[in-house]
Amino acid sequence: MENKTYRGHVLALPYPSQGHINPLLQFSKRLVSKGFKATLATTLFIHNTMQPQSSSSLQFDTISDGYDEGGFAQAESIHAYLNRMETIGSKTLADLIIKNKNTENPIDCIIYDPFLPWALEVAKKFGIYGAAFFTQTCAVNFIYYHVHHGLLKLPITSTPISIPGLPVLELEDMPSFISVPGSYPAYFEMVLNQFSSSDKADAVLVNTFYELEAEAVDSMSKVCQLLPIGPTIPSFYLDKRLENDNDYGLNLFVSDSSVCNNWLNTKPEGSVIYLSFGSMASLSNKQMEELAFALKGSKFHFLWVVKASEEAKLPEKFVEELGNRGLIMQWCSQLEVLSNKAIGCFLTHCGWNSTLEALSLGVPMVGVPQWTDQTTTAKYVQDVWKVGVRAKVCENGIVEREEIEFCIKEVMEGKRGKDFQKNAKKWRELAIQAISEGGSSDKNIDEFVSKFVNS
Ligand code: UDP
Repeated sequence: MENKTYRGHVLALPYPSQGHINPLLQFSKRLVSKGFKATLATTLFIHNTMQPQSSSSLQFDTISDGYDEGGFAQAESIHAYLNRMETIGSKTLADLIIKNKNTENPIDCIIYDPFLPWALEVAKKFGIYGAAFFTQTCAVNFIYYHVHHGLLKLPITSTPISIPGLPVLELEDMPSFISVPGSYPAYFEMVLNQFSSSDKADAVLVNTFYELEAEAVDSMSKVCQLLPIGPTIPSFYLDKRLENDNDYGLNLFVSDSSVCNNWLNTKPEGSVIYLSFGSMASLSNKQMEELAFALKGSKFHFLWVVKASEEAKLPEKFVEELGNRGLIMQWCSQLEVLSNKAIGCFLTHCGWNSTLEALSLGVPMVGVPQWTDQTTTAKYVQDVWKVGVRAKVCENGIVEREEIEFCIKEVMEGKRGKDFQKNAKKWRELAIQAISEGGSSDKNIDEFVSKFVNS
């Protein structure tokens, strides 16, 4: 028997990938700190792989995506995965709600990733409050909103593109599903479908903070009531109000922090480039080679996360000849790395979590976006937040070694480097303010909570 009185029981349902689990997991911890019981439901496959440990308040439970043995890798196609997840996910989500129904704390709110719009239908069937939780920037959401509602016609035939509240965008700044028509149709349908449910959701939460995207938020708020509640990174790195919250706590890959820390701690302040392309990107052999030679050609130290699946793409003898110049890791605790004083710049694919982490920790960036929303985020990194540069891509789709070297130098020691550092520091301060007591995101979380509690 549970004897604690909660203000409600929230079920968080992320899309099953690292970049989508992290923010919902963190948001759940925030709600726990505000007196709620929270359960994070992952797929059975992820649960079995990661074996997360429930604590007294934050619980872990499961639904099924229909691929319990191998997850996404087991599916025949993206389309097949998403379809099966909808069918089996809806059923097993309903089972989870029913399982909790006659307990002391039945589920009374579902916060779902709008990549899984069917979750709202399930919530509504049970009369449960449903909140959509967007895990990409407000700007990207607003672009998709325009396409979904026919306000931006595809294919795009004239540029630049004007969307209220967003900077003027060229085709290369648009999410890749738009700039490269026909690429990943199943994912494109999925990102547009976010609005098929969110327009009916009881609340719309976005993992950004008002000050970071004020114009986009103001503009989108005219057509959709949204609440920016981020950044959802562990409290230790921002407001320090949540006890023992210094890690996301659910890692799809294994890392050994001490190796990175020991290595970084021997390097001078601001002297190391950190490189990572997140959990999903797969680079071409040629791109890996260009990166490797750029790093070799530059004089800086570097820490490069090369996932096990990417290692074979490194040039021959690259690792053997590194010496003390560089460290290659298959995964790391990115927050620990970014907060280490030795880091001078982050060469990133501009995944939204990575970018938000760098902004929150005040680290300038070199953007080398690969696909999906990363291109738009890279545009913001360079031209809106002014915390770094975006590397130019050649006609063959590759960012060449000279360009990478140039960008790294520009951020590490170029004329604009000092401005990037100054701006990065400013965004860090604003991020801390937003999530601290009385800050814009904190107030929005309270508004969400009271809306739900009084619903
Ligand atoms: N990450 C990490 N260690 C690594 C690389 C990435 O912990 O070595 C984390 C990172 O902190 C971020 C997430 O993985 O929270 C990646 O999310 P993002 O949205 O940046 O990219 P995605 O993986 O979705 O492409």
